[in-house]
Formats: sequence, C-alpha cells, structure tokens
Amino acid sequence: MPHGHGLTDFLYQRDGAIIAFAQPDLAAAGSGLSGAWDLSGTGAMVLNWFLKPKEALMLQTVSPLILKLTLFLMTAVATHLVMSFGQTFLHYKVAHHPIGGELFRNHINFHHAHYADDHLVSRTYLGDEGNTTPYFFIPVFLVGGCAYFLLPLNLFVVMVIASAASFYAHVFFDKQYHVEGSRLQRFAWFRRQQELHFVHHRHANSNFGVIHFFWDKILGTYRRPDAGA
Ligand SMILES: [Zn+2]
Ligand SMILES: [Zn+2]
Repeated sequence: MPHGHGLTDFLYQRDGAIIAFAQPDLAAAGSGLSGAWDLSGTGAMVLNWFLKPKEALMLQTVSPLILKLTLFLMTAVATHLVMSFGQTFLHYKVAHHPIGGELFRNHINFHHAHYADDHLVSRTYLGDEGNTTPYFFIPVFLVGGCAYFLLPLNLFVVMVIASAASFYAHVFFDKQYHVEGSRLQRFAWFRRQQELHFVHHRHANSNFGVIHFFWDKILGTYRRPDAGA
C-alpha cells in the first residue's frame, strides 16, 4: 500500500499553496496499487472546484482515506452479496435439480439423507461428501478472473479476501446448524437462522440461502419456520 503517497500530496500542496490540483503520482500511476488513490484524488479534485481553499485543504487531507476505506468496504460487501447469492442460486438450481448430476445426487443422498426431519443435528458434522464446494469454485474463478483484469489490484485483493471470508462463513454456518450443542445456540439470531435452515430440510423446495434468507424472499422460495412445519 502506498501509505506515503497521500501524505506527500498533502505536504506538497500545503507548502506550495496549490490546493485545487491533486497531483497524481506518475511513478505509481502505472501500478494497480495506486487505483484507489487516483480515484479518491479525482473525487477531491472535483470537490475542490466548489470549495474555498481552506475548506478544500481540510477535505483534501481527510477524504482520500475515507474514500479509500469506503471503496474497500463497498467492494467487500458487494463481494459477499455476490457470493451469498451465488451459493443460494446454486443450491436452488443445481444441488436440488437433476441438472446438477453428481452434485445433485450427493447433496440429496448425503446432506439431506444425513439430516432429515427426525435427526437434524449430530454430534459431529456428517456429510462432507455432499459438499458443494468444488462446483462452487468454478463460477468463483470465472468471476474472479474477469475481476482481476477489470479492477485495480488493491480492490482485487479486497475482493479475494472477502470471497474467502464469505465462503468460509457459509461452510461454518452450515456445520454449526447441524452440530449438536453449538456454542452459537445461545444467540437468538442463530437459533432463528438454524430454524430457517431446518425448514429447508423438511421442505426441500424452500430456504436455499445458508446465511441470508432474503435471497429466498427475492426468489420466491422463502418459508417461515411456523408455516405448518
Ligand atoms: Zn439442500
Ligand atoms: Zn443442512
């Protein structure tokens, strides 16, 4: 990360009293790492057109970092939402559809056979055979490959870290739902999530989301826990 870059800009502008122009670092401009700085620099430059010099100077020192962090946060959130929707959609259209072939058979024969209405939890997690992981990586790498060429390197790195975290969270929650005496049981929100997932095991045409069930509301597959279960 070019930490010194923003600072250099600021000092340069302060000493030279040139406030209205954010100088792009030409040496760094060639590397993807400077992407967010260039963007925030542009934002600050646009803002400077409308501000008095003193106000502009203050904004100039604050906004690049804020803009950069906002951009990172938005990238991470967007990545998680895409991962979460992808997981829900694959579960719905591939893992529960004959079109899914082996994935479909594994998911039904292992995950749904291990965990059915009368035994929704076990002491240790069963059914890694029914794991949809390898198939999920195909679209992930396709999207990731495109993103590598389209995004500045720093945003791409944020995206990769966010995908890994999001993916891990999906695997983690699916296990926690089915493991006896999970520590998360003490949380009402977790018990609610777990119940929504159990509805999926009782009515396999509903609640395909693992973390976010609002995708099911969008897809029209949402089913409430008390809806005749
Ligand atoms: Zn399922
Ligand atoms: Zn399950």
